[in-house]
Parts: sequence; C-alpha cells; structure tokens
Amino acid sequence: VPVIELTEVAKTYRMGTQEVHAVRDVSLRIDEGEYVAIIGPSGSGKSTLMNIIGCLDVSSAGSYRLAGEDVGVMDEIELAEVRNRRIGFVFQQFHLLPSLTAWRNVELPLIYAGVGREARRRRAIEALERVGLGERVDHKPGELSGGQQQRVAVARALVGDPALVLADEPTGNLDSTATEDALRLFDELHAQGRTIVLITHETEVADRARRVIRVKDGCVSTDSADGNVGAAI
Ligand code: ADP
Ligand code: ADP
Repeated sequence: VPVIELTEVAKTYRMGTQEVHAVRDVSLRIDEGEYVAIIGPSGSGKSTLMNIIGCLDVSSAGSYRLAGEDVGVMDEIELAEVRNRRIGFVFQQFHLLPSLTAWRNVELPLIYAGVGREARRRRAIEALERVGLGERVDHKPGELSGGQQQRVAVARALVGDPALVLADEPTGNLDSTATEDALRLFDELHAQGRTIVLITHETEVADRARRVIRVKDGCVSTDSADGNVGAAI
C-alpha cells in the first residue's frame, strides 16, 4: 500500500527574475512499513522534498498523494489537518516546549486532534513507555539528556498513530551513544510496521535504513529499491 506517491514533482523558487529549481522531476513511491533514508549533499533539495512530503509546502508541478489523499488540491487549513492526522514529525532540534513536562509535550498533537483529556494523558504516557521513558513522564525537557529529549519527540510523533514518521536529521544533535539509542528505536518502530522516512547526511544513519534514496541537483540520482543496492551509499 503506498503511503507516499510523488509523480513528476517539481519545486521552483522565484528570486526576482531568477528561478531556482530546487526539486526537478521526482517520482517516488514509498509503501507502508518501509524504512527509507533520503541522503544528499547540502543544497541538493532534501529540505524542499521533506517540506513537500511533510505537507509543509506544496509543489509547483506534479502530484502528491499521501495515504491516498491528493495533497495538491488542499488549502492551508486542510494541509494543517492532514499533517496532524497523518504525519509524526521528529526534528534535529527536538522542538519540545521547555515549560511543559514530557507527557504534556507528547499530548500536544492529541489536543489539536480533539481527543479528550483523560485519553490524552493515558495515550501520552503509553507513548513514553514505548520509547523507554515511562519513568520520566513528569520531567521537563531541561531535566532530560539530549537522547531522552529526542525520545520524547519520538513519543510525540507516535502518539497520534500516524501513517508516516518523518524525521529531519534526527541524530544531528546527539552524541554517539544517544545516536545509537535513537537508531535502535527507529529499528524497533520499523519492526512494528511503522513507515519511516528520515533525512540525513550521516552515512552511519542511512546505513540502518532498508532503502536509501540519494538526491542530487533536485533529482533522485540513485534509489536502492531499483535493485542497485549498495550503489546508493
Ligand atoms: P538541502 O536541504 O539538500 O540542503 P534545499 O532543499 O534546502 O537543499 O535547497 C535546494 C535549492 O533550493 C538550493 O539551491 C537552495 O538555495 C534553494 N532554495 C531553498 N529554499 C529556497 C527559498 N525559500 N527560496 C529560494 N531558493 C531556495
Ligand atoms: P546522559 O549522560 O545520557 O547525557 P545526563 O547525565 O544528562 O544523561 O542525565 C542522567 C540522568 O539524570 C538522566 O536519567 C536524566 O533524566 C537525569 N537528569 C539530568 N538532568 C536532570 C535535572 N536537571 N533534573 C533532574 N534529573 C535530571
């Protein structure tokens, strides 16, 4: 079952009279349960592609279906709704609210989704238990290590049971031990059937994914799913 279907997607930025072709002609299908790393040098179009996949931005050409829904026809409000319902985001900088405890951070997507108070608390605590932080639910981000903060962010990404977990350089701010912990957590999520797409420039991180897509000059230059395994890295 396809979770992501990009067909001839392009994104062009206009800078005065200049045009920047950030993404040129990307056709990509990612199925349910896949664990995919998108890699490529700085300026190759990874963030632009990530923003399109994450429904944070819309393409200038081509079509995008997320879990069967045509994203191209949506307005800002519908995009916000589809983001909240379909995607769990994990960022390099964690993006946790410092004044809220771990479980209060994790319940946030459920508030936007209109889930009741008791169910929110129960599901937030369950999500924290799943990432191994059941003993830290009342800690604030500043009372947790970097690796623990990233696990809170992963719990927040999972709590709404999204079709897709989208991670942007999730290990970029972690030391090697915490990176290994985070990668083990992604392995577990993959084993549980989650669909994971992460963007990284670290080959150590990309090596753990089951499929590696390399982006170059706004295009997919290699995709290990094309039978070209090994050549992508
Ligand atoms: P990466 O994430 O791989 O570093 P980006 O997607 O950020 O690549 O950028 C791809 C290209 O698009 C770059 O040439 C960049 O300068 C350009 N670009 C990105 N965002 C904008 C923008 N908002 N306006 C104009 N050009 C942009
Ligand atoms: P690490 O060595 O993994 O970076 P830390 O040394 O930051 O971890 O923290 C070790 C333990 O102490 C963690 O379990 C964390 O929850 C707890 N801890 C860290 N800082 C605080 C704090 N300011 N208040 C309460 N507990 C803390």
